[in-house]
Amino acid sequence: MAHQPYTGGCACGAVRYTTPHAPIFQNHCQCRDCQRRSGTGHGSWLTFADSADMAITGEAAHWEVAADNGNMKRHAFCPVCGTPVYLRFANAPQFIAVPAASLDEPRRFEPQALTFRVRGLPWDSIDPALQAFERMPTA
Ligand SMILES: [Zn+2]
Ligand SMILES: [Zn+2]
Repeated sequence: MAHQPYTGGCACGAVRYTTPHAPIFQNHCQCRDCQRRSGTGHGSWLTFADSADMAITGEAAHWEVAADNGNMKRHAFCPVCGTPVYLRFANAPQFIAVPAASLDEPRRFEPQALTFRVRGLPWDSIDPALQAFERMPTA
């Protein structure tokens, strides 16, 4: 596959990631966790299927939370600037997701779907052309 690596990191540059793979899923997510973490109506994510191949530099801090569907999510953030940098899933360790705006080139984010529409807020409108799931589709 001829594409540039996906690279990005936190706001201060202490934690960086790069992966040679293309994302398998790109979504906006309106679950309560994404709302609380982002401080607004949704999170925006690129999910990669080969977490072992993502090279991460710098030391991230972690916290865990149960997703709306009960699965544990392990959030990594920069301990210096607090920016979320990646997310892993206890029940699917092969996956790793990064926030769209953490990319060095955030225009590469191409949302395909909206997840957890059921939690959407009336002031957070998402492109109605996107495929929408009431919750998280099973991988
Ligand atoms: Zn940082
Ligand atoms: Zn979410």
